[in-house]
Amino acid sequence: MKKVLVIEDNSDNAKLIGYALKRHGYDVIVADSGVKGIELAQNQIFAFILMDIDLPGIDGLEATSRIRGSMDLREIPIIAVTSYAMAGDVARIVAAGCTGYFEKPIDPLTIVDDIESLISRTSNAAGEKR
Ligand code: MN
Repeated sequence: MKKVLVIEDNSDNAKLIGYALKRHGYDVIVADSGVKGIELAQNQIFAFILMDIDLPGIDGLEATSRIRGSMDLREIPIIAVTSYAMAGDVARIVAAGCTGYFEKPIDPLTIVDDIESLISRTSNAAGEKR
């Protein structure tokens, strides 16, 4: 089964997205801090990572940069899920290495399809560049 890493400190949000992912056949692992998320990302294989930006300790931008620092994890899709997607923040989210982002509140009925199509769009674009 494909596994997804959800890095999210709010347990209600984690449950909501986790439920949506499980309905689509994913196995879901939740980390409630950036540090725990980085460790999991480095030690298990995930289809993609969902990254809350507002996290205790290091934030989601820093966690994304650190995950991208691992050779094996340069290409893994990291999707930011953020409540503050204002113009400047979008630039910072992209600069940190996120593949894309979705704004909260997420719609549990559509979010997984939206994530999958974002990932397939971005991986096609990466393939064309090679
Ligand atoms: Mn949060």
